[in-house]
Amino acid sequence: MPSNNNFSPYKFSLLSSIYIALGAYFVINYNDLSISIESVLVSFIIFVLSFLILQLRVRKLFFERIRQIYKDLEFETDSLIKTSVIDSDINSFSKDLEEFVKLKRTEIETLKKEDIYRKEFVGNVAHELKTPLFSVQGYISNLLDGAMDDKELLKKYLKRAEKSVERLTYIIKDLDLITQLESSTLKLEVTSFDIVKLANEIIEDLEISASERNIKIIFNKIYDTNILVEADRNRIEQVMINLITNSINYGSEKGTTEISFESIEEKLIVKVNDNGEGISEEDMPRLFQRFFRVDISRSRSQGGSGLGLAIVKHIIDAHNENIYVQSTVGIGSEFSFSLKKSKVL
Ligand code: ADP
Repeated sequence: MPSNNNFSPYKFSLLSSIYIALGAYFVINYNDLSISIESVLVSFIIFVLSFLILQLRVRKLFFERIRQIYKDLEFETDSLIKTSVIDSDINSFSKDLEEFVKLKRTEIETLKKEDIYRKEFVGNVAHELKTPLFSVQGYISNLLDGAMDDKELLKKYLKRAEKSVERLTYIIKDLDLITQLESSTLKLEVTSFDIVKLANEIIEDLEISASERNIKIIFNKIYDTNILVEADRNRIEQVMINLITNSINYGSEKGTTEISFESIEEKLIVKVNDNGEGISEEDMPRLFQRFFRVDISRSRSQGGSGLGLAIVKHIIDAHNENIYVQSTVGIGSEFSFSLKKSKVL
């Protein structure tokens, strides 16, 4: 409710007309202060006329200017309601303006944050691409400078250049995915599928890279029945690939990656355990940040883009589910996430 001391064109015209009519009354009765019907009538007519003229003028001036301000500020909604309010109540107008200023401030803050994020992101991307790109350039230069005449060197440098190009490809693929996830252009295609079957397929695909480090990928027990979950199968596949790949990259040589499923009410918890180097308490809060690595050289030598866990977090968030980490340095880590179980009909 607007307070009584609001300025409005109506109040202004009424008060001014009263003062004008009173002034006129005293001027007419300057010599004789006794009340006469004629002077009251004349003052009343002056009051009515000045009220009408003022009301028209003030309303026009007030209304038109404020409407112009609203137009300039691009108030998009409820324009009819707002113009009728501003016509009678300046407080509503200043409240609208306050809200508008607040909104603009929040928008500016968001834009500033986005700008910082963009600069940081571009800087990180450039940094990530620089290393493999420079190494490809180095090998090509060496070959052109004469190394290509030596068959053994030729093969060695080409292989190394190929590895760097592979790394560039990983980084670009992950960057592409994280950009899609962060700009929320990615729509989830939720279906009901068997998570045990998916895990088996992933284990088969990752077996070679696991065997290179003598790591076994196993289940904690035999899962001989389907476990149906509701989620985007391709995205969850990406989550599991990233978590299992990390368990191989940061797990101990000759170690084990163990996959397990635990049912808690309507949720299924998918766990990936390793007995690797572990993560310190201090590093935990930054684990899911883009480009964060505990051991930069180890991550790079394993072909990591530093985006794997950021991608995992985005996908799990998009499903409105949770991801958890438990880790002890020197003992190992457990990454787990929840999924919605399919309702059994
Ligand atoms: P990267 O491409 O470097 O593997 P991630 O986002 O997947 O990027 O992981 C970020 C960092 O978290 C890694 O560089 C590594 O230091 C740490 N990390 C991830 N998973 C594990 C794990 N299972 N055990 C130990 N450290 C891990």
